[in-house]
Amino acid sequence: MTSNRKRLLLTSIHDVSPRFEGEVDSLLDLLWPHVGDRVAMLVVPNHWGDSPIIRGSAFAGRLRAWADAGAEIFLHGYFHRDESSHQGAGDRIRARFMTAGEGEFLGLTRSAASSRIAEGRALLEDVIGRRVDGFVAPAWLYGEGALAALAECSIPLAEDHMKVWSPVSGERLAKGPVITWASRTRLRLASSLVAAGALRHAPLDVLRVGVHPPDCRHAAIVGSIEKTLTRGLRSRRAGRYSELLAA
Ligand SMILES: [Zn+2]
Repeated sequence: MTSNRKRLLLTSIHDVSPRFEGEVDSLLDLLWPHVGDRVAMLVVPNHWGDSPIIRGSAFAGRLRAWADAGAEIFLHGYFHRDESSHQGAGDRIRARFMTAGEGEFLGLTRSAASSRIAEGRALLEDVIGRRVDGFVAPAWLYGEGALAALAECSIPLAEDHMKVWSPVSGERLAKGPVITWASRTRLRLASSLVAAGALRHAPLDVLRVGVHPPDCRHAAIVGSIEKTLTRGLRSRRAGRYSELLAA
């Protein structure tokens, strides 16, 4: 049970990496009038293995500046792409059909997940000069190994599609589906607009909005994001994930 009665709008930008630097700038511009610096940036240390964040690079400097300006920094996988061979047919189907192979942390063992989290966290913390605020698995998909690794690594906050929780205490801190958009096909785009249109009216204390780099290329999605933020902020204030821990 959650005992948290704060009414917050939590906004996140997924897939922050050098690959999507221009899109991340566009998304920050889009979000700023609504939430200001209350934005969580979900950072991928080496997106698809060919877009590494390098200590001392210009991008690393920008990451540190965003953190200094108040953005929360979450580790978001390591490569983002799912390169493991899944044991269970259920996991395999989930990984393939739900995420087009982006479920990096679905099939990892505990030790593999722990070492990727440790390596990614060390890189990001070197770059931003402070602790990361939490971890979000690519496509919000966690296997047993990933869940055990989050607790082992004392990650303060994590979220999946339906909740935010503390891997340290196991406590659930917020519940309700995250509002997000998809643009890979026309059908997915259309259904995500319908879903956002309904979910932004949901009577949730904590409303989560997650945006992705391709969203900024679609006027219909941009319009839906703006409507969702406006509606969500009528009865909530823009907040930070870490506020959920300060109940
Ligand atoms: Zn992602």
